[in-house]
Amino acid sequence: MSKQKQSEEAYNTLLARIRQARPESSGQSEDRLKLPAPQTMVSGKKTFWLNFMEFPNLLRRDPIDYLNYFRSQLAINASIENGRAIFMGRPDKQSFAALVQRYVKERVICPVCGSPDTRLEKNKQVLTLLCEACGARSAAK
Ligand SMILES: [Zn+2]
Repeated sequence: MSKQKQSEEAYNTLLARIRQARPESSGQSEDRLKLPAPQTMVSGKKTFWLNFMEFPNLLRRDPIDYLNYFRSQLAINASIENGRAIFMGRPDKQSFAALVQRYVKERVICPVCGSPDTRLEKNKQVLTLLCEACGARSAAK
């Protein structure tokens, strides 16, 4: 078997596997929301969150609002530079992953129908989660 044929076959096998792995119905749970793991790197007294921008992009949230959530939860200052978030401290890796989950639960997933297709509205410091799937308005933390 030629090399090209081999890779072609491998590719087709892969495609078939992906098709099989895809769920039959497009459920309405947070499973639909596939987020990467936060990639962080400590340098000196700072922590760099390298793939930071992927999160607000996937969650359709304002990057600054998203960053502010982590700032207040971790109680450390942070800024965004060149698509990376830089935290002025060294929270452990697990905190980032746990906070991503909490953010999604509190500010992305509709508590009524479980859809991640939501918008966040801020009105006089009150956060409201608007669901585009079922139209529910819920208070967000
Ligand atoms: Zn909903």
